Amino acid sequence: MDCLFCKIIEGTIPSTKVYEDDVMYAFRDINPQAPVHVLVIPKLHIDSLNGVNAENSEVIRAIFEKIPEIAKAEGLDSYRLVSNCGPDACQTVHHLHFHIMGGRAMSGLMA
Ligand code: AMP
Ligand code: ZN
Repeated sequence: MDCLFCKIIEGTIPSTKVYEDDVMYAFRDINPQAPVHVLVIPKLHIDSLNGVNAENSEVIRAIFEKIPEIAKAEGLDSYRLVSNCGPDACQTVHHLHFHIMGGRAMSGLMA
């Protein structure tokens, strides 16, 4: 499958690893929007949040349990979590990912 983030998981495209286990990979965004900008992705290819279902949601649970630990390890106790889903939300990489952004005061605007 021609998926950028699957290639990052495989290691064929380089990335700066922040965390990895059996089900997820976390790495630094190449174009950070905040002093800390980490992407957390499932190793299982899921196109977007719209692809989450009863068969694969266990990996989402694992990711959400890990996000506070990743944020804390990055020195954040206040941060924003974003997942863009589909074209109206400007999803550009079609492998589900969660943006953890922090290290500065964020805008109160959501869009
Ligand atoms: P989204 O617009 O929500 O689909 O987010 C995709 C994110 O992937 C953007 O924030 C990009 O900066 C980031 N990105 C794209 N290519 C790479 C890469 N090779 N390594 C790290 N982050 C990337
Ligand atoms: Zn993928």
